[in-house]
Amino acid sequence: MTNPPLDKTYDPKVVESRWYQLWDQRGFFHASPTHPGQPYCIVIPPPNVTGSLHVGHALNNSIQDILIRWRRMQGRNVLWMPGMDHAGIATQNVVERQLVAEGTSREQLGREKFIGRVWAWKAQFGGIIIQQLKRLGASCDWARLRFTMDEGLSKAVLEVFVRLYEDNLIYRGERLINWCPRCLTALSDIEVEHEEIKGKLHSIQYPLEHDPATHLTVATTRPETMLGDTAVAVHPEDTRYRHLIGKRVGLPLTNRTIPIVGDSILVDRHFGTGAVKITPAHDFNDFEAGERHHLPRLPILDHQGLLDRAGLQAAGVEAAVIDAIATLPVMKARPKIEQALKERGLLVKVEDHKMALGKCYRCKTVVEPYLSPQWFVKIKPLAEPAIKVVEDGRIRIIPEGWTNNYLGWMREIKDWCISRQIWWGHQIPAWYCRTCNEKLFIEKKTSTSSSPRLTILQGAKPIVGKNAPTSCPACGRQEFIRDPDVLDTWFSSGLWPFSTLGWPEQTSELKTYYPTSTLVTGLDILFFWVARMIMLGLKFMGEVPFRDVYIHALVRDAEGQKMSKSKGNVIDPLHVMEEFGTDALRFTLASMASPGRDLKLAEERIEGYRNFANKIWNAARFSLMYVDGSRAPLPPAERTFPDRWILGRLYRTITSVTAELEAYRFDRAANALYHFIWHEYCDWYLELIKPVLQDAAHPDGPSTRHTLIETLEITLRLLHPFMPFITEDMWQHLPHQGESIVLQPYPTADAAWINVETAQSFELLEEAIALVRTARVLLNYTPGQQIQFYVSHEEPKRKQQLTHLSNYLVHLGRGTAELAPTAQWPTAQLLRLVSEGLSVGVAVADDVDVKKALDRIVKQRSEQAKEIERLDSKLRNSDFVAKAPPEVIADHQERVRKLQHDQAVLASSEKQLRTMSGA
Ligand SMILES: [Zn+2]
Ligand SMILES: [Zn+2]
Repeated sequence: MTNPPLDKTYDPKVVESRWYQLWDQRGFFHASPTHPGQPYCIVIPPPNVTGSLHVGHALNNSIQDILIRWRRMQGRNVLWMPGMDHAGIATQNVVERQLVAEGTSREQLGREKFIGRVWAWKAQFGGIIIQQLKRLGASCDWARLRFTMDEGLSKAVLEVFVRLYEDNLIYRGERLINWCPRCLTALSDIEVEHEEIKGKLHSIQYPLEHDPATHLTVATTRPETMLGDTAVAVHPEDTRYRHLIGKRVGLPLTNRTIPIVGDSILVDRHFGTGAVKITPAHDFNDFEAGERHHLPRLPILDHQGLLDRAGLQAAGVEAAVIDAIATLPVMKARPKIEQALKERGLLVKVEDHKMALGKCYRCKTVVEPYLSPQWFVKIKPLAEPAIKVVEDGRIRIIPEGWTNNYLGWMREIKDWCISRQIWWGHQIPAWYCRTCNEKLFIEKKTSTSSSPRLTILQGAKPIVGKNAPTSCPACGRQEFIRDPDVLDTWFSSGLWPFSTLGWPEQTSELKTYYPTSTLVTGLDILFFWVARMIMLGLKFMGEVPFRDVYIHALVRDAEGQKMSKSKGNVIDPLHVMEEFGTDALRFTLASMASPGRDLKLAEERIEGYRNFANKIWNAARFSLMYVDGSRAPLPPAERTFPDRWILGRLYRTITSVTAELEAYRFDRAANALYHFIWHEYCDWYLELIKPVLQDAAHPDGPSTRHTLIETLEITLRLLHPFMPFITEDMWQHLPHQGESIVLQPYPTADAAWINVETAQSFELLEEAIALVRTARVLLNYTPGQQIQFYVSHEEPKRKQQLTHLSNYLVHLGRGTAELAPTAQWPTAQLLRLVSEGLSVGVAVADDVDVKKALDRIVKQRSEQAKEIERLDSKLRNSDFVAKAPPEVIADHQERVRKLQHDQAVLASSEKQLRTMSGA
């Protein structure tokens, strides 16, 4: 590898442009099933082919890359499987918009040409996100890049569909579905956006058939749907209405009467009048009530959301009403119905009413519950084993708290509508004999299309297979119509963990990497995607698709608001990478990835970690001046005190980073690294060894230079999964073997480095220097000013340690240090600070303004008191204590303890200075 000199200043753009291509070209990310290590595999949540990197992707993929790089360095047989989703509706809409701009349309082009256009679009514009993931440092095995519509994956889809059909787990049924009257397609629940709006609640009177002077009053937000009512429900235990169950009411504006049924599920007897209308063809709850009571379904809206003449006629609606509303959209028909009811004196009142309205996530058109023939997966038999594997721990959900969400949802799961009325996607492998199903096709022309829209009615008999049938098994004829629908995109992405590894072929990849190890995902697709992978993995592989599901939180803005373009609070990861560097962005996201808590991201945070990268850069540049060839590692006993200490701290850091990564605590792992590098390596260690480094003839020189570089090299490897670019760049400048840090072993801790005695000595030194620095600040000594100070300890053992530390005390305290017992210290012009047996005395020079020093103390004490009060009041707040994680509470308590300690030191200093000033 090339080894240019380390640049003077850290420029992430330069550093980050140097390495990625090289890593990729040398095949460092390429997995081989024959690799001897224990397999570790992650399948990427496939981004949409239309997608562009947002901050949620950045978090999701940074976490995956940290795990992948860490496991690769641990010697595991690592595969990170990349890919993209064809994103049916999203992609189709993009291309449709292009066609509209060209003055044509999907319908004019026809199906085959349109699909050709989508592929052409993909070739030109699709997959921008792949380049962006590379910019993020994602070490995917790009040679294996898959696409849900590629040949292999399409083969898997076909195989799964046919097998599920043969097992009677796929059926065609007439169901109420979410329907976009603009896109003319079914939508999954996730594709419907709910919005709270101010609607109106209409109370309508239905006269009893046997006593028309008496009415049942029902309330509805959609009066027009009453025309499709097929019953009125009351609660079976409601004494007001119980006697009416089994009787009938006349349905206003129609020639029909409808039954009164008792239903304890649909009716809340304390809400409204306690009587509700049932419209099975236009409401999800009513659809189910209709199933319970075997009620007919009378659709009165067509697929474009317009009042349908034939439907209204079938529902027995009065001719004059039909003429007034047929072919109108709902919002135009509604006032006409209101008017007709008013004229008959049946509209009792209209009140304001808040309600949720579902809209198409693509085009924002109001979604209609729509009755149509669709394909479904019978889900219960697939859900049961998928519940069991989570219950018995074969799949672990992290954080554990989401397990109950998963289980609760899976126990309530409903059959999965898998058909979509679009063209871009996997077309359903079902054919219908033209002769046998002659009466069951409707070919409808609409004003906007040149080719007719095909609807295949309920009752048509499909022939399902991997290939088109050659002749009809019933009549022997050979003319077929293929089902025009395509499959829900979750159908193909639900096969992702095994289809990407080559299934249905029994490939060596499949044998090696399935079940995969970890899935990293957001909560929003736990059910839509994760649950489906579990069900289909168990069904077709007989084994779970992954062991651990790590669910990360959402990235929000600094105030905790959802990022949105309209609010203007979006943080664009590409912009941030440009400005502060990818390493800083990745480290920020990792450091904030606390379980279950949303990340409140501010650019200042990322800038802060850019400064961290800068600090590392400068420390490395400094250290590099002292590289003097590699040598065999020294046993700890032959090293100096600072060297023994930093290795002990390194040991602790390696141990904790590794344990936190095992536990998916990226935040704690990042914070341990940050603390070690910034405070321990840069602030303390480099300072402690400076006198040795600067003295070329110092006897400790060789061992110190060796430890300096050794520690840096290990630290870079430890940090690499988090900040891959800067670590590679610096590692290349150190004496090393091997081509790249990517392939180096992850550090393991050596227990020989742990030395309790050394750690205690350091704590003593740290505390003494802290006291000296406090005194320097109080007395207003400049940082460089040489001072005279005294240090002593009550305990003989500690006193002994202090004598070994005298060089470091002098160097860090800047002045002359005396280690005499306190009894021998001068009594005048000396500021004494005491902390748990340790005493430090700093000479008060003649020119010190004691009055000003006193002012500083008073100010500091009052600031500390305020901070103690603030923390204490939080700790007294039972609400805070109940909600805060234990570690946050412990941290607050520790800060209070520390502040109280500092207060005591200051109180004593204040007393002494008052005596000195004679005040
Ligand atoms: Zn739509
Ligand atoms: Zn036939």
